[in-house]
Amino acid sequence: MPSYAVVAVPVPLSQPFHYAIPAHFAAEVRPGARVLCEFGRRRLVGVVLTLSDRAPPVDPTRIKPIAAVVDPEPALPAELLAFLQELAAYYFAPIGEVLRLALPALERDQVKAMSAKGAFGGPLDLARQKQVGGRKVLFACPTDALEPPGTLRGQAAAVLALLRASGEQPVARLEERFKAARAAVKKLAGMGLVTLDERERPRDPFFRLPETPDSPPELNEAQALAAERIDAALAALAPTAGFAVASSPAAGSSAASSPAAGSPAASSSAASSPAASSPAASSPATGSSAASSPAAFLLFGVTGSGKTEVYLRAIATCLAQGRGALMMVPEIALTPQVVARFRARFGDDLAVLHSGLSDADRHAMWTSLRTGRVRVAIGARSALFAPVPDLGLILVDEEHDGSFKQEEGVRYHARDMALLRAYRAGAVCVLGSATPSLESIALVRRGKLTELRLPERAHREATLPEVHLVDLRKFGAGPSGDKLISLPLHRAIEQALKAKDQIILFLNRRGFAPSVVCEACGTVETCASCSVALTYHRGRRAPRATPGPHVASAALSSGQTGELPGLTPPRPPPRGKLLVPPPGHDTDDDHVLRGGRLRCHYCDYTGPLPDRCSACNAPSLALEGLGTERLEATIAESFPEARVGRLDRDVAGADKTEAILNRMRAGEIDILVGTQMVTKGHDLPSVTLVGVVNADAALSIPDFRAAERGFQLLVQVAGRAGRRDRPGRVLIQTRNPQHPAVAFAAAHDVEGFLRRELVDRQEVGYPPYSRLALIRVDAPDEQVARDAIGLLAARARTSPEGLARRVDVLGPSAAPIAKLRNRYRFRVLLRADERGPLRAAVAAVNEAKNSIERSVRIVIDIDPVAML
Ligand code: ADP
Ligand code: ZN
Repeated sequence: MPSYAVVAVPVPLSQPFHYAIPAHFAAEVRPGARVLCEFGRRRLVGVVLTLSDRAPPVDPTRIKPIAAVVDPEPALPAELLAFLQELAAYYFAPIGEVLRLALPALERDQVKAMSAKGAFGGPLDLARQKQVGGRKVLFACPTDALEPPGTLRGQAAAVLALLRASGEQPVARLEERFKAARAAVKKLAGMGLVTLDERERPRDPFFRLPETPDSPPELNEAQALAAERIDAALAALAPTAGFAVASSPAAGSSAASSPAAGSPAASSSAASSPAASSPAASSPATGSSAASSPAAFLLFGVTGSGKTEVYLRAIATCLAQGRGALMMVPEIALTPQVVARFRARFGDDLAVLHSGLSDADRHAMWTSLRTGRVRVAIGARSALFAPVPDLGLILVDEEHDGSFKQEEGVRYHARDMALLRAYRAGAVCVLGSATPSLESIALVRRGKLTELRLPERAHREATLPEVHLVDLRKFGAGPSGDKLISLPLHRAIEQALKAKDQIILFLNRRGFAPSVVCEACGTVETCASCSVALTYHRGRRAPRATPGPHVASAALSSGQTGELPGLTPPRPPPRGKLLVPPPGHDTDDDHVLRGGRLRCHYCDYTGPLPDRCSACNAPSLALEGLGTERLEATIAESFPEARVGRLDRDVAGADKTEAILNRMRAGEIDILVGTQMVTKGHDLPSVTLVGVVNADAALSIPDFRAAERGFQLLVQVAGRAGRRDRPGRVLIQTRNPQHPAVAFAAAHDVEGFLRRELVDRQEVGYPPYSRLALIRVDAPDEQVARDAIGLLAARARTSPEGLARRVDVLGPSAAPIAKLRNRYRFRVLLRADERGPLRAAVAAVNEAKNSIERSVRIVIDIDPVAML
């Protein structure tokens, strides 16, 4: 009988630790089980990775016993446990932190019960497990009051800034970010800067309304063909054990033999990329029960081609086989429609995992999957870790979307990891997109993904929209007076309004004006903590005393009480150049610049608009550029008969997003203005005009994927037009009509773009033609950060792979955003043709981490997406 357990504890150390198994726990201490154990002077809940007979090579008196077992059945299924270990090794992430992603918070009641049983003597470290349960939720809302300058600092200042930037928040949510949030909020309330409001916990918005069951439509030819291929792959999976879930007999053996357990850093299986781990590349390394013939597909279908129907059909097949399915979507709050379609087809036995869930709800969802009561999970990136029973299918919708990459903590890519998890679990994986990532196209070319095509829109009458380019160098401002609303766009809007159609206007800059510039010396106002321009936000509330001509548009929110920021009537837009009123100047007509604030989009700083330039002190500041707030106001004034809505992160919150989309669907909004959020997969039948206000803004980012992202954005937003019988039109305004991203998008030539972009990437040696790892450091002291990156870069260069030139070491250099939240940022990029050498070089850097000063934060980003 094994006498030791290898346990991962939730601390940022990569190796697990050995604990002795007391005889009375022998039956319960199994891989995947949560156990209470002493760690230093704390008691922590850890997860058993493996069991072992052999004593570890340390002083036996230092091996402590396991203090208690939390779950009667292992919390993590064997399949998931093995996958998590592999993920940890792949990303050089501490196993304890990875496990945390997959485990629900411990219920307070559970812990109490354990205490009552006298299961443990010392205090349990519950710092992580707070905020569970409770029917009431305490909200903090910012007031309009201003603090006397210099009275706030630390977390109180930060919490207030966050509340002002993103609106009211549950206090529990704030606590996830700021340890002292509760105290800070109390203090702020005492100063009249926030109000506190206790509310009933809202019911999950995704289940608020009943859904009428539907029956699947008859698939068109292309859909049927794709569905057949997926069905065949599902049929070829090894037989399932049925509903063996928590008590799966395989639980012990298969996880125990996982190569990653016990020594993640040295794991060899994780050295291969998830992409390379398809059947052709390697035989299954782990003893997963059903790895006979797993298959992975790329469902490449134009926008509106009925990909979702194919997913639904695949899930139905999977369920009929007694297996579970997992679907990932970019941002679940943006696609309530997808959930509605799932509920209509499969009923409410669905785990919808989203960030708005309370811990108690999340726990309930998790349990329903873990016990096998529910077998379908849908959610954003983090749904990757859902304990779906007998996993048979993973679907990744809009696989190209950047939100699948987690950009903090464990920096995993949910799409790449979906391929890995499916492969290891012996499940089928389907990636879907109208604009596949170059990575996925490369996998198709290498035969690792099977491509399935849906070349046409599903509705018989629907065709792809006509796309016109508007060259902004040739067209000046239309009647609105704003250069970014050209005459052709203005006319197209008029026509669509006349036809009672709906319009989407896309602009990927939020706020009112993206920058504030001094007309005297040219200085741009920047954030004091970040090397980033401050954005002017005019704020949300219209002055109620002065109803302008927009009361008509306000009528759309009649019957709607309370604030719905995206729909409040915008104040009239300013004409011509916008100057900040000089100090002391106090008239009524400069109301335009009253009440607004400057905000940093990176650190949540908010502050008043200064009246003098911070560099030369001249009273000549002007607003520059166009953001969604200003676009909304300008449009509302130019088209007073239209009902205008706005969708961007300033408006959003899952509920409000859904409310706005519902209004759009109900025909209560004529023109929807917004950022990326309007480009996501909405199926809005009456939209016939899409205007891309400034295509160039997306293309000028210093990132080798800028063209790819810009292209995806253009095709996706264009794909919102003409999805039914009425033909759609798209106007793309640009100063670069020849840019490949623009030209190919205008021609609906996705393949043409991909082909060309692949050639470009090959020429410069970027992914998918190479492998990257980005090493980032930041520190409060610039020189300390610079020294640290220098040392890490040198370590990479002098590693055997670096010396042999199997790995290129690019840099070090300052990051494009050189300072963020008062920390100076530097980076070095490692590049290699093969995964193996790259890993070895990264491992050398990883080891050197220990010799770096503690004020330096070091991030190792494998397969980086965000390059800023
Ligand atoms: P995608 O996910 O590719 O953007 P959707 O699955 O949302 O496309 O399909 C677009 C529209 O076409 C939806 O309204 C959907 O109900 C409809 N649709 C899909 N497949 C069919 C079909 N076979 N017959 C009729 N309508 C369909
Ligand atoms: Zn900032």
